[in-house]
Amino acid sequence: MGDYFSMLKQDVRFKEGLKACMNCGVCTAICPAAEFYDYDPRKIVELVQSGNNEEIEGLLKSETIWYCGECMSCKTRCPRGNTPALVVMSLRTLSMKLGFFTESEKGRQQFAIKRTVGENILKYGYCVASYAVSPEMHREQGPIWEYILKNTNDVYERFGGHVDELGEGPLRKIPDNVRQELINIFEVTGGTDLFDTIESHSRKKAEEMGLQFENEGIKNEYFNEVFTANKKKHTH
Ligand code: SF4
Ligand code: SF4
Repeated sequence: MGDYFSMLKQDVRFKEGLKACMNCGVCTAICPAAEFYDYDPRKIVELVQSGNNEEIEGLLKSETIWYCGECMSCKTRCPRGNTPALVVMSLRTLSMKLGFFTESEKGRQQFAIKRTVGENILKYGYCVASYAVSPEMHREQGPIWEYILKNTNDVYERFGGHVDELGEGPLRKIPDNVRQELINIFEVTGGTDLFDTIESHSRKKAEEMGLQFENEGIKNEYFNEVFTANKKKHTH
């Protein structure tokens, strides 16, 4: 077993997020995720603070660490100046680095986020570019997304946009030199390495699950599985 506690302590977010928890539960009381999910930031902080590597490993493989919405409400209320959200962020990154994220349904979704939102940032300069989102994947939007996709220029011009063209407004083309800066930032800060790590662990998991995996795009069985899976009970 690894010394996960020491690994967490190397993450600057962990150092900032956990000073000394007195287990009061104020973070859980304010937490919107705790309202719906089987999630309790007080318990997470308490468990991590114990330094018990066996329990931390369980956390790194759990669904729990993926429920936080990173809203930062917990930061504003903790009487000890902790930020449970930063502790959760450091747990998530360690889970991804060690490949433990593929052990949970919500963790496996990191692959879908990387292939969509993550790659969009580097390709277009936007997390979500409406022309890159397939309406079949977002049926919760009803017919609206499909309409916007078919009428992108018309819709965005009404907001003063220049879709995929240099200029002003929403969905304007992000100049190549600016996009290159984003790519450089990902490289320098370890984001590119983390993307590669998510890919390689996901590929391994796809093999283990007997699902087809492609090196790019979203048309493969593994992507479809992680994007649509909802077999575990996540809410109260
Ligand atoms: S509010 Fe702060 S001190 Fe209280 S349980 Fe949460 S992290 Fe610990
Ligand atoms: S940042 Fe996460 S843990 Fe903190 S209040 Fe928001 S959802 Fe809860």
